[in-house]
Amino acid sequence: MNKYAIVIHGGAVTMKPGQLTPEVEAHQREGLHQAMQAGWAILHQGGTALDAVEAAVSSMEDNEHFNAGRGSSLNLQGEVQMDASIMDGSNLKAGAVNSVTYVKNPIQLARAVLDNSKHVYLSGEGAVEFALRQGLDLASPDYFEVEKSRKEWLELVQQEQAEPQQHDTVGAVALDQHGNLAVATSTGGIEGQVKGRVGDSPALGCGSYASNDACAASCTGDGEVILRGALAHEVYALVKYKGLPIVEACRAAISLHDEDLQGDKGIIGIDKEGNVALEFNSNVMRRAYRIGEEEPVVAIWRDE
Ligand code: ASP
Repeated sequence: MNKYAIVIHGGAVTMKPGQLTPEVEAHQREGLHQAMQAGWAILHQGGTALDAVEAAVSSMEDNEHFNAGRGSSLNLQGEVQMDASIMDGSNLKAGAVNSVTYVKNPIQLARAVLDNSKHVYLSGEGAVEFALRQGLDLASPDYFEVEKSRKEWLELVQQEQAEPQQHDTVGAVALDQHGNLAVATSTGGIEGQVKGRVGDSPALGCGSYASNDACAASCTGDGEVILRGALAHEVYALVKYKGLPIVEACRAAISLHDEDLQGDKGIIGIDKEGNVALEFNSNVMRRAYRIGEEEPVVAIWRDE
C-alpha cells in the first residue's frame, strides 16, 4: 500500500489565557478528530486526496465550533459571508468562491466550480446562483449564525471603535495512495470585517496551493498578511525550487519579510512523500493529522 496522509487545521490565532473555555476546547478537539477521520477514511479506502480534503473541510463547516460554514463569524453588518477554495495537485484544477451566503458548505461550492465550471473563481451572488443551479444545499441565515457569533458581534458593535476581532479558518491537505496531493480551505473570515472584505482563504497561492510536483499547503491567520506574502505558493516554491523539506518551507514562509508581514500565521503542508508540517507563530493552532495506519494526533496549544 502506498503512503497516504492527511493534515487539517481549524485556525491559528493568538489567544489570552481563559479565552478558550474548556467546553469549547473539548468540542474543537472532538471536531478535529471527526474531520480528520472523515478525510482519512477516504484515503484509507483508496479514494482521492481531493475527496478527502473536501470531506474533512465539510465536516468542520458543519461544526459550529469552527469559523466556517455553520458558526462563521459575522461581518460588521452582522451578516455571514464565507470564502473557500480547493485545488487538485494532480492537474492544477481549482475552484474558489468568496463572499458567499446561504450555501451550507462553501467548500462543496468551490468543488462544484472546479468540476463543473469553465471558471476558477466565483464571487457573491453569482456564486450563490451557481450553487442553486448545481443543486447544492442552502440554509437560512439562522443556520449559520450561532449564539456565540451573534453575542460576539453585539459586543463588537457596542464598542466605540469597532475593530475586527477574532479570526479563524479551517483547512486540509492530503496525499492519496495514487500519489496525488490536494488542498481545501474555508472560512467565515474575521469577526467584524467590512462587508465585501476578502482574505487569503479563497485566493489560490495565498490560502491554498497544491501541485503534485512538490506539495500542498493551506494557510490560516491574518488574511491581509498572508495575501501580501502569497504564502501557500511561497511554501510550494521553497520546496520545488530550493529543495527545502516541507517543515522548513512552512517555517520560512511564516517568517518571510517578517518586518513587513507581521501577524498570526499558520500553515499546514504535506509533500509528495507524505512528510507533514504543522507550523504557526501564534500560541494556538487547532490541528490534527494522521499518517497511514499510524495513530491520529490532535492538538490545539503550541506546547503540546
Ligand atoms: N485567514 C482568514 C481570513 O483572513 C482568517 C484566519 O485564518 O484566521 O479570512
